[in-house]
Amino acid sequence: MISIQGKGVSTGVALGPLYFYQRAKSTIRRYEVEDTDAEWTRFKAAQEKAIEQLGELAEKARAEAGDEAALLFETHQMMAEDMEYEEAIQTAIQETKLNAEAAVTDTAAQFAEMFAAMEDAYFQARAADVKDVSGRIISALTGVVQGGIDSPVPVILAADDLAPSETVQLDKSKILGFITEGGSGSSHTAILARTMGIPAIIGVGNQLKPEYEGREVIIDGSTGSVVIEADADTKAHLLKKMEEQKKTREMLEKLKGQPNETLDGQSIRVYCNIGSPDDVAAVLGNDAGGVGLFRSEFLYLNCDDYPTEDYQFEAYKKALSDMGGKEVVIRTLDIGADKQIGYFNMPKEENPALGNRALRICLNRPEIFHTQLRALYRASAFGKLGIMFPMVTSVWEVKEAKKMCERVREELTREGIPFSDDVEIGIMIETPAAVLMSDRLAKEVDFFSCGTNDLTQYTLACDRQNADLGRFYNPHHPAVLRALKMVCDNAHKNGVWVGICGELGADLSLTETFLSIGIDELSVSPRSVLPLRQKIRETNVSLVKEKLLSDLLSDENTI
Ligand code: PEP
Ligand code: MG
Repeated sequence: MISIQGKGVSTGVALGPLYFYQRAKSTIRRYEVEDTDAEWTRFKAAQEKAIEQLGELAEKARAEAGDEAALLFETHQMMAEDMEYEEAIQTAIQETKLNAEAAVTDTAAQFAEMFAAMEDAYFQARAADVKDVSGRIISALTGVVQGGIDSPVPVILAADDLAPSETVQLDKSKILGFITEGGSGSSHTAILARTMGIPAIIGVGNQLKPEYEGREVIIDGSTGSVVIEADADTKAHLLKKMEEQKKTREMLEKLKGQPNETLDGQSIRVYCNIGSPDDVAAVLGNDAGGVGLFRSEFLYLNCDDYPTEDYQFEAYKKALSDMGGKEVVIRTLDIGADKQIGYFNMPKEENPALGNRALRICLNRPEIFHTQLRALYRASAFGKLGIMFPMVTSVWEVKEAKKMCERVREELTREGIPFSDDVEIGIMIETPAAVLMSDRLAKEVDFFSCGTNDLTQYTLACDRQNADLGRFYNPHHPAVLRALKMVCDNAHKNGVWVGICGELGADLSLTETFLSIGIDELSVSPRSVLPLRQKIRETNVSLVKEKLLSDLLSDENTI
């Protein structure tokens, strides 16, 4: 038995074979081939495999998001068998005697350069497509699965670290749990694990050895323990815990249909955070009142190119209609920092968390923002939509974003496309500037949603991604809690409602504080809804409020 200790960031016990995440190798071997016909046959087989995979992806996209979504993969299919592209590869193999991987790499580079040099933006964007298609053919040639899980059974997935773009592309039905060498609890990978309800452990360092692959492992997301080939006693203990967790869940099920109301009659909304329309099933399954944060950037992270208006429209429409009239707050694109997307071609930054990200990108590249807002407003006809802007620091940013919304509404009206005139507009409060300006910002919007992950990072000047900062990244810091109180007071003075959609919202040790401050909504991962409801229903706010608020503002509270 081998025991390894990490940090649990998503609770639950899971058991299964250990599987190491396969990342595509970046170096392509280059050599001269003798039998060029055999090499050409190798290429043709890989090309056929890539075309077949793309066909499957097109079908999946069609089923999940409509014809427009499938088009991207169908275009890639056509590119893979484009005559000029194929001829260039054939020449490289048969005349230059290059191995197939190198021939595809060189041809991809030539074609990408040619597309990038074209005037038309549409053709320029094809440069990324040709690289993508070629990468798929190279994977088929080398047998390296691009970031996939090539296992017939579900596994406990181990990786050095996983970028959000890698995590969203994983086949969730194949994952029982995550273990990563690095990472931090408020990273987006940890957040995704919690959203998916999958146990996860981070920070195991170099303790996982390649020879453990395929062995049975049990992980406990609440304690951070990883046990490989557990002895009988340990296994029995962990399986018992798994059973107990199942029983607790069954008990919590009884709270479905009950109000989120304290013993003394104060109500609070409990909503969910999601990253894809597919998560709506878990939102409804856990009886949440709505969606308080749909991280729309995960849609972008899941694509190989800018998602079109129709593709986005189908995804937002699906989330809204599946929620059956319950509110869905969709956050506009929040990329940058740890959420990097290749096709955005963003220059490398020294301080990406302070850089060109989120609303800043949208205001600097209005064509991207415009496409997303059109998709959002079109989808608003199918449910109750809220639109929320991330990373706000100034009033002018909100005014500019609202102007763009106005422009989109005017366009749709002119085009006779229906949309709802009841779309709430809100902002994330996740920078100290937004907190300090919340009295003014409240005059511009219908709601605030506090992003405590970033608010902690920026208030304490403490990188949320850096696992070594441990105790310094403290969302319980009085500076953060006082900020929440200030925001809430300024919002309520101006008739604006306030939610918390950062991970802190699910922290049961602070539920009484949030109720005392007067927070209107907590938006949490689907699995946290019922435990939170239980905590709310056990609380008597009038008994604790005075003390909690005076503690919060007390001179003694100086952590
Ligand atoms: C936050 O910052 O708290 C938040 C909810 O947004 P994200 O974690 O996606 O940055
Ligand atoms: Mg944030």
